[in-house]
Amino acid sequence: MTKAATPIECRSVELDSLEWVDFPTALSQGGIKWKLLNVAPELGSWAAIFECPAGSFFASHHHIGPGEYYLTKGRMEIRGGVGSGGETVNAPAYGYEATSAFHGKTYFPVDSEFYMTFLGPLQFVNEEGGTTVALVTWDAAEAAWLASQG
Ligand code: ZN
Repeated sequence: MTKAATPIECRSVELDSLEWVDFPTALSQGGIKWKLLNVAPELGSWAAIFECPAGSFFASHHHIGPGEYYLTKGRMEIRGGVGSGGETVNAPAYGYEATSAFHGKTYFPVDSEFYMTFLGPLQFVNEEGGTTVALVTWDAAEAAWLASQG
C-alpha cells in the first residue's frame, strides 16, 4: 500500500421504507418479491430480503461465492430438500451456503421470507445445468433494483 485506505461508508435500511418489487421471472417463479438492502463493491457482495409465496421457487443457480441467510418466516427446501439429499429448514433458521453450492431448485412450500448476503455473484443456469441464463453480480443486482424503482 502506498496511501491510507478510504473508510467504507456505513449505511442502514429500514425495511418498511422500501416497497416489495417482483424478482425477475426469468430467475424465479410463483411471485417472489425482493428488496435490495445493500451492495458492497469492495467485497463483490450484495444483501437482499425475499418474500416467497407458497409454491414459489428460484431457478437453478450456482453460488460463485458463499452466502449466509436468515429465514425469518416459513420453510425453505434447499438442494432438493431433505427428501432428495438436501436440506429443509423451518423458520427461524440461519444457514450458510458454501462457494460453488449448486441449488437446482430452491422451493418454498409455504409463505416464507428470508434475508441473504451473497459474497459474489449468482450464476443462473438452464435446467440441464450447462448454459448460463444470467450472472447476478452486485452491480447487476443493483441495476435491476434501480430499474424497478421507476
Ligand atoms: Zn441458492
